[in-house]
Amino acid sequence: MGPQPFHSMSLKVSELLCPLTNNWDLDKIRHHLPQYEDTILQIKTISVPSLDTLMWLPESSGSYSTKTGYGLGMLANRVKSDEDTSFNWLKNIWNINTSPKIKDFIWKVVRKAIPVSANLERRGMAPFVCKKCGAPEDDLHVFLKWPVAAEVWNLVPTRFSPSPSLSSMADMLTGAQGMIPLPPTCLTSPIWPWILWNLWKARNGLIFENRAFTAHENALKSITDAKEWSSALPQRSTNAFPQEPAHVLLATCAPRPPPSFPLGILIAKAFFRVRIPPILPNLCESQNHVSSALMAEAIAVRLAVVTASLQAWSCIGWEMDQLKENRRKKV
Ligand SMILES: [Zn+2]
Repeated sequence: MGPQPFHSMSLKVSELLCPLTNNWDLDKIRHHLPQYEDTILQIKTISVPSLDTLMWLPESSGSYSTKTGYGLGMLANRVKSDEDTSFNWLKNIWNINTSPKIKDFIWKVVRKAIPVSANLERRGMAPFVCKKCGAPEDDLHVFLKWPVAAEVWNLVPTRFSPSPSLSSMADMLTGAQGMIPLPPTCLTSPIWPWILWNLWKARNGLIFENRAFTAHENALKSITDAKEWSSALPQRSTNAFPQEPAHVLLATCAPRPPPSFPLGILIAKAFFRVRIPPILPNLCESQNHVSSALMAEAIAVRLAVVTASLQAWSCIGWEMDQLKENRRKKV
């Protein structure tokens, strides 16, 4: 396969679309860009004509920002370390029974995205020392080796404490599953995320406000925070609907695909659960070249919304397990 012939040099995307249906014209794709057929067909076109707009997908607003541009650039250049490939992010961070803000914080710690001296130095900034003891400051110093930190880990009753010889925060988190809180804390959720959180707050309090916390205060605060969070859990409502709409669409995809499936055939189904007649049939549509489970659900929702719109419904709701949240929309 050689370079593009001269006559197709100024070809536009719109010329690969059928002007009536706005779907991809398979013959034209096979004629001009046969090597990209699968990739192109995974891009689902909209069914109504609309103007082209520039869209920066990493931002929800669609507008480019240097922040996300820089982030993507860093991601592309980042050399994968052993830590990245072996560390179990789900087990060690995202599935921990603790507050979402703390999971987010721990993720930043492991990603070396918190502003301790060693992390800032890696980004070209001048290093500084620990304000408490004058030692070089890195994440392990703040969370493990700093004298206050070491004392906090000893004070809080857990089945075992992190070893001072650990070489990285990822190692500490990997072994953290065994740091089970013991009586008399009466805790049913892990205490160690709250210890990390309060050590970080203590470090910042010392640097920015010159406030020193003792290890006892820090340990007590961690236990209190963990208890308060656990006791608040049953009162939290998980129902996002203030009032259930008359018609609820359940958009699902079957079979549930594996995390990556480059070219699957996916069946998008839209189930109508109707509280008020008329009863609508379940809709089913199968499509090739569906790039992800999320895309399959988007197709199912579109099918359901178009059908509901034709039925002249004024208000519908839908539930999607991929986005893990309920949505309400007027059609
Ligand atoms: Zn120190």
